[in-house]
Amino acid sequence: MPKTISSSLPVNPDPRRPDYAAWRRDRLDEQLVRESGGAQPAERLLQVIWQHQRLKPGALRMTDGRRVRVLHPGFCNFEAGPDFRKAVLQFDDEPPVCGEVEIDVAVSGWHAHGHDTNPSFRDTLLRVVWTAPGSGGAAVLPMKPNLECPWNQLKHWAAAEPLGDLPVKLHGLCCAPMSEASDDEVRNILRQAARVRLESKSTLLRNRAKHSGWEQALWEGLFTGLGYKQNQWPMRNLAIAIPELRERLGRRMRSSSDWLAVLLGIGGLLPVELPRSELKKSEHLRKLWDVWWRLRDELAHLIQPPEVWQMSGVRPANRPERRLALAAQWLADASFIRRLEQWFTTANKEPDSARLILPLLNGQPDDFWESHFTFSSRPLKRPAPLLGPGRATDMAINTILPWFYARANAGKDQAVREQVGQIYFNWPRADDNAVLKLARQRLLGTVSTKLFKTAAHQQGLLQIVRDFCAKTDSLCTDCPFPDYVKAWSLR
Ligand code: SF4
Repeated sequence: MPKTISSSLPVNPDPRRPDYAAWRRDRLDEQLVRESGGAQPAERLLQVIWQHQRLKPGALRMTDGRRVRVLHPGFCNFEAGPDFRKAVLQFDDEPPVCGEVEIDVAVSGWHAHGHDTNPSFRDTLLRVVWTAPGSGGAAVLPMKPNLECPWNQLKHWAAAEPLGDLPVKLHGLCCAPMSEASDDEVRNILRQAARVRLESKSTLLRNRAKHSGWEQALWEGLFTGLGYKQNQWPMRNLAIAIPELRERLGRRMRSSSDWLAVLLGIGGLLPVELPRSELKKSEHLRKLWDVWWRLRDELAHLIQPPEVWQMSGVRPANRPERRLALAAQWLADASFIRRLEQWFTTANKEPDSARLILPLLNGQPDDFWESHFTFSSRPLKRPAPLLGPGRATDMAINTILPWFYARANAGKDQAVREQVGQIYFNWPRADDNAVLKLARQRLLGTVSTKLFKTAAHQQGLLQIVRDFCAKTDSLCTDCPFPDYVKAWSLR
């Protein structure tokens, strides 16, 4: 009997067992109902469609009649702000522009979600919605009439596609030469870039030290690191106040609790007035308040407005109050910097030097802040340390080791420079994050972290992003980095 084409395709051999394709379709249908709930697709599905541009090729038509051509859909943003960053769009025959794209299911989402008054959405170039009946004159791009095929044919694909994986066509121009280089060659490039990062951070610290001394430069670096992305400035401002606080308050600062009261007070993180009823609710707050109200007038010129803190998007464990509780411990410990120096003198001989810095940075147990995220939050079921291993690595790589390197440079001490290099380039890799993940996809064409054995490899990648990706658009226009990779890996 002649073999038919269909007989060569695998089929479920036993009808009593579930067929993979049918089973998968049912699961995706369930997912679609779960995600979308109503008649319209969920926002995540619209983001997937946008990221992969499953839209009619050529110009798309907006509700105000303008044509828009998507030269690059941008990169999915998992933080606060519009859904896609660095999109490149062309409206009618105008020159292409680079900016942000916000996707909402309905036109009303823009107001309902508060985007219209949120400064993070100020640079939104394009609003995309599912349909735009009665858009009220708003210039939006309706997605449904612009799909490349009917939604019924797209929905299973959209439901199965993970958001955030970069489509191959969105890889950077350097991805091809990077993929052709061997793992060792790529790691070598990353290490060289990491060295640039170490040296530039150490130069910044050295410059600060020229004005304010080595110890103060370290405090500023450490405080800045405690501020994460959102609160680096207010944290740094607090560090800048440290010399004045020490000089003014001197022996009056007897404990970490005193320091915390002052840091929270001048940080604008304590209430201006505290009624007795509030004081009764929190013994910890009462103690801090007792210190702060006596000093408030004397330190009034240092008080920051609370508005300088950005609390939206900050994970509860990273709240500035908790970070300042840790910083207060460091400041109250007269031997803190000496102990850091002791750690450094043996760190290159200790295979576990990265682990050994954690207890040093984590300070003493804190009864209140290890079990609370804010003054008024409920006690945590399990205590949360004030600093985790990931942040300790960030502090070591971004501040502490560059600080030792800067001092070695200033003293022209080659042996210490080598020692910093040994510790820095062998430090285990840090936590992954969205920037690294996107960079791996764009530059290396993979989400895998296999190539990244050390924190220096990650630092190198961040440096390349900063040196090149951040200076051009998402189309990699005029980026010289691909030529560098080609030239470097010529054998
Ligand atoms: S901008 Fe340059 S470094 Fe960044 S992905 Fe494009 S080619 Fe690579």
